[in-house]
Order: sequence, then structure tokens, then C-alpha cells
Amino acid sequence: MQIFEAIWEIVDKKSSAYFDLSDRVWETPEINYEEFRSSAEHLRLLEAEGFKTERNIAGIPTAVMGEAGEDGPVIAVLGEYDALPGLSQEAGVAEQRPVVAGGHGHGCGHNLLGAGSMLAAAAVKDYLAKNGLKGRVRYYGCPAEEGGSSKGFMVRAGVFDDVDIAISWHPAAFSGVNNPISLACSEMNFHFSGRASHAAATPHLGRSALDAVELMNVGVNFLREHMPTTARIHYAITDAGGSAPNVVQAHATVRYLVRARTLPELLSLVARVKRVAEGAAWMTETTMRQEIISGDANLVGNEPLEECMHAQLERLGPPAFDEADRSTARKFQATFTPEDIASSYSRFNLKPKKDEPLCDRIVPLYAGDESMVGSTDVGSVSWVVPTVQMRGATYAIGTPGHSWQLVAQGKLPAAHKGMAHAAKIMAGTAIDLIRNPALVEAAKAEHKERLDGNPFVNPIPDDVMPPILPVPAALDAAE
Ligand SMILES: [Zn+2]
Repeated sequence: MQIFEAIWEIVDKKSSAYFDLSDRVWETPEINYEEFRSSAEHLRLLEAEGFKTERNIAGIPTAVMGEAGEDGPVIAVLGEYDALPGLSQEAGVAEQRPVVAGGHGHGCGHNLLGAGSMLAAAAVKDYLAKNGLKGRVRYYGCPAEEGGSSKGFMVRAGVFDDVDIAISWHPAAFSGVNNPISLACSEMNFHFSGRASHAAATPHLGRSALDAVELMNVGVNFLREHMPTTARIHYAITDAGGSAPNVVQAHATVRYLVRARTLPELLSLVARVKRVAEGAAWMTETTMRQEIISGDANLVGNEPLEECMHAQLERLGPPAFDEADRSTARKFQATFTPEDIASSYSRFNLKPKKDEPLCDRIVPLYAGDESMVGSTDVGSVSWVVPTVQMRGATYAIGTPGHSWQLVAQGKLPAAHKGMAHAAKIMAGTAIDLIRNPALVEAAKAEHKERLDGNPFVNPIPDDVMPPILPVPAALDAAE
């Protein structure tokens, strides 16, 4: 017990600098691969903590890493700091009020995710030094989680090759160890090219790329009946070929996001969608080019790690929210629909309690509705390194994901408390692993067993590069 109390104390002592980091990242919301200020803030604190730092991880200018400790196992704590477009929102108010019209906002709580993970890594660093333990801890600042798959590119570059165990968390309504389920996904464009023509005078000379897009969508909509029920396919027409109906559209693009329960299932479904696209091109006498943009593998669970992390949660208990936190959360709950609140409970098969604005319990291990899942780029990491994640309660029960309400709660005392709570659990898990080599071995053995016969095929092909941007001149000079 003393071991964990000691690590919790280190987290508490360090936490205020990390609340500030989270708040600063919240105040400068940056989206996929544009996280120049956020990653610079992370790098600054890593350096101030005395980590050996690296930037430009996997050639991505907004990915950073810090390492501390000597020998022993390498424990990675994964953080994120990207925001979402269109979610600009004032902090702390239970009313939709953008700060900048059309601006970005931290609608997934990644300001907390990054700062909390780094806080855990820093606490582990101090604990190792104080107790003369062998072991290395790394903080990975991973950009572009929201559709950017940066961790998949980082996996491809081999940056996790010498990591023994990876740990992460995500802000949530409830505290618990994640049911390790997410969908493998692949995002791609289908570009069609045809021939422009006067749509009335010479329609027979035109070959419509927009027709091809429409036929492809019809074909895929029929395909849905013959795919696994857990698979998902979504699309958006990103280029309809122009705005003039009297011109036969010579170009058109449709973007597809295909998701499936496992990596092999995903690869076979993507091949079928591609065949439909080829069929649409045949029918319309156009040409088609498939361009893969990004992709994530599904999460691979790890029972020894999940049990270890859940035991940490049982030991510490839920975050210590107070009446002021609950009263603020109630104001946010007043803006949710009853369905929002009900679905927050049903995701984990939990019985709703009357007047529970903030989580006051630990979700049982593996509670959850397996049909309600999205994708995460942590999935790709979990194929190459045994990985464990938790959810940490930081916002009101019922808060919709990617919403203005989630942004507005990102700097509240409850958010800070939830973040420090998650850091204690992650740091405790890391120390438990470092002190118990048998646990690391058990996690590795289970990982190997789970993947037996299924080699990792990165859903990001080798020739696809992350859409990185040059470092803005003003920031480069300031560094
Ligand atoms: Zn997220």
C-alpha cells in the first residue's frame, strides 16, 4: 500500500504545473498535424522535468518524446493534444458560446489526455530516481488522433519497437478500465475522372465522374446487407464535380471510412468496396483512383495488464469530486437530453442512479456494450506492444462526445481532479510493472498468444505519408 500512496503523493505535488499545461493547450486548440504550440508546450515541460527529449518523432514535427531512467523495462505512457474543428467554446459556461466563430475546440478532452499522461510519466520518473529502481519511462506526445492516425505512422517508423508495455487513458464520464474493443478502420478517397461536355447539346460525348460516385454509393449501400453486422461504412462526397448542372462532371471524389471488428476483416471489406468502385468506373466509362489516407488497427486487449490497472482503481477509488463540482455538472446535465444521459450508462451496462452528475464509482472490469464502439489509433500500437487503457471521469455523466459541452468542461476543477486521478492510476500501474518483472512477462506472453497466426498488417500502406505541415516561421523563431 505504501508504494502506491507514495506515487499518488508525487502526482499531487506535481499536478498544478500539469493543470496549467492542460489549460494552455485548451486555450490554443490545434487540429490534426497543426499542433505546433501544443507540442512545444509539452516539450518545454518535458525539458523542465529533466527528461531526455526528442522531437520530430517518425518525421512528424508535432510528435515529441521524453525518456527517463536506466535499464529495466521500457514503459511508454501515450498522450494526445489535438482538438476538433468547429467546436470553439467559452470555458465553464453551460451555454453554447463560441470564443471564435468557426474556431477549433477541445471536444474530446485531449488537453487533459496529454497533460495527464505526462504527469503520470513524470511521477514514475521521480519515483524511480528516489527509490533507485531500474526501469525506463517514456512519454510519447502523439498528435492527430482525430482521423490522423499518427500512432499508426509512429508504429510504422518503429518508434515503439523497444517498448515493453504501453499505457494510456481517455477522459470520460466514468472511471474504469476500457473494454479493449475498437474497430479497425481505413479512410480513403475514390477519385473518378471522366470527360466534360455540354449536358444538353452533346451529352453523349460526356462521361460523368459524378455518376460514378453515385453508382458507387448505391453499390456500397447494397453491399451493407452482406457484410458483418459489426462493420461500418460511412462516406462523404468531397468533390461533386462543380456547381453547374449543364456541364457533365469530369471529376468527382467520394471519401470512404470503412470499419470492421478485426484487421483481417477490414482488409477484406476494403477490397470489396474497391471492387464496387471499379464497377462504377466500368459502368460510366470513367477511371478510378483509390487513395488511402489513414487507418487504425483494432485494439488488442491484455488481461494481465487490465487486471493490474483495475486493481489500481479499486485501491484508489473514484475521483474525489465535491459538491461544487457536482453542482456545476448538474448545470451541464440540464443541457443534455434524457437519451444522452441514458446512453452514458448503457454503454457500460450500468444502472442509472438518481442525481449522479459526476461519476462516484469504479466501473466493473469489462462492463460494456460491445456494439457501441469507434476506432482509435492506439489500436495500431496495441498490435506491436501489450497495451492497457483506462477511462477517467472528468466531465458530467451524459456529456455527448465531440460537443460544445465537453469543450466547456475542459478547464473545470472536476476536469483537473479527474486528470490527476487518471495520472495516479497510470503511474501506479507502471510502478507495479517495473517492480514485478513476472507481470511484464505474463503480459507479453498473453499478447503473443492473442496475435498467434495474425501478423500485424499496418492499415496505412508504406507509400502513404502523414499530411504534415511546415513549422510556422513565427513559432520556429520563437523556439
Ligand atoms: Zn479522443
